[in-house]
Amino acid sequence: MEDAARSNVPRGRFDFEYVPDTDQSFESAIAKARDGDRLSVADGVELMTTGTDREGIDIARKEAVLEAADRRRAEVVGDDVTFVANLNNNVTTACNTGCLFCNFKDTAQDFEADSSEDHGGFTKTPEESRETVTAAREMGIYEVTSVSGLHPALALDDEHLEMLEASDRGDLNYKSPSAYDTDPGTYVEQMEAMDVDGLHLHSMTPEEAYHARRGTDWSYEEVYGRLKDAGLDSVPGTAAEILVDEVRGVICPGKIRSDEWVEAMEAAAAVGLDTTATIMYGHVENEAHRVMHLKRIRDLQDRTDNITEFVPLSFVHRNTPLFDRGMVEGGATTHEDELMIAVSRLFLDNIDNIQSSWVKYGDEQGLKMLSCGANDFMGTILSEEITKRAGGEFGEFRSFAEYVEMITAVGRTPVERSTDYRKKREIDPDDPPLGPELGPAADGTPLLPDERASPETVADD
Ligand code: SF4
Repeated sequence: MEDAARSNVPRGRFDFEYVPDTDQSFESAIAKARDGDRLSVADGVELMTTGTDREGIDIARKEAVLEAADRRRAEVVGDDVTFVANLNNNVTTACNTGCLFCNFKDTAQDFEADSSEDHGGFTKTPEESRETVTAAREMGIYEVTSVSGLHPALALDDEHLEMLEASDRGDLNYKSPSAYDTDPGTYVEQMEAMDVDGLHLHSMTPEEAYHARRGTDWSYEEVYGRLKDAGLDSVPGTAAEILVDEVRGVICPGKIRSDEWVEAMEAAAAVGLDTTATIMYGHVENEAHRVMHLKRIRDLQDRTDNITEFVPLSFVHRNTPLFDRGMVEGGATTHEDELMIAVSRLFLDNIDNIQSSWVKYGDEQGLKMLSCGANDFMGTILSEEITKRAGGEFGEFRSFAEYVEMITAVGRTPVERSTDYRKKREIDPDDPPLGPELGPAADGTPLLPDERASPETVADD
């Protein structure tokens, strides 16, 4: 019961205004969930905590929540378990934002041409991005996902670069590309480079869009409009973390506030881009914050109707400043993880797809999440740096054959999907070889010649 003892207790040292305390009852919340009624924040807190009337997780109540979520999943999307053939091509690890949950970044100063620091990070030129993406396209991927550090030399485009060069403001997190050993080009140049024949380009989080307009009076619509013209197809709703500012103030004080995140997402929708949405939980926040976050996402979707999936991301604590400084003792418990998936399914009645991230949960628990309300199982991620560098044990590539084996083993139907879920293909496990068919150059051949080979090695060859 160690798990239970740690759950449902406000995560102690922070004097937050919002705590999991309601005048609602668990019984009434679970009844509403079973009936398919829209849940209030208080209802969500009751489900997420398995009742604020008692401490710790009540296992029987937790099972009731998971069961309701699993039933809702079956009603909304059936038995399909989807995944996408995708490549992660992150452009740079240079970042000065200093989020305390992150160990993906390296101090940008270390990347300067005159630095002797051996930082172990990377920056890719647009040409290098294009080579990586082109090779992956030929292997059969459908989507390239690109999320990067906020490199000080990155500007939206040449016009923005000129403005930043001419500015004498010292607060813009800008330094000329000439100061660095590798020039990442502009965001527009990177988008154009990764926009390779027919691939779906999924990039430019709200935080990156903020970086791409710093020092200007350009709206987010202007920024996303230019990026769309350069080849951007959809926007990852990462950098959301927890959309409650008292939590952001602790874990990522250098990031945009929650209102601005929402503003950027609405702008992406306004110019016709699909988005995803995420939550990164299991650090300093409590259950009230998690449900308040779900409410912001549900409200946003009511306005935009462009969120294709919701992705709960369990905080990986190892190698992060939050852990190293003793601000957290670990991440979420398994009970919390399961309840996060289940309550997301029940609360977000306007988002069809809930993702189980095996990179965060591991294979066994990732599969278990498919019976807790999740229906999507991520993608092949031909290259994965972010989780690996934060100490995650479950990074790296996943082949179609492995996907099919895992999904059929739990009695569900493996389905290859497009990024936006509008194209789907049921996979016949008895018809090998098992490879992607939806990508522009996909012909059913497995992505890697030897699917146990290092994806980095193959992708860069
Ligand atoms: S989460 Fe993103 S913005 Fe924050 S430090 Fe890491 S790379 Fe930089």
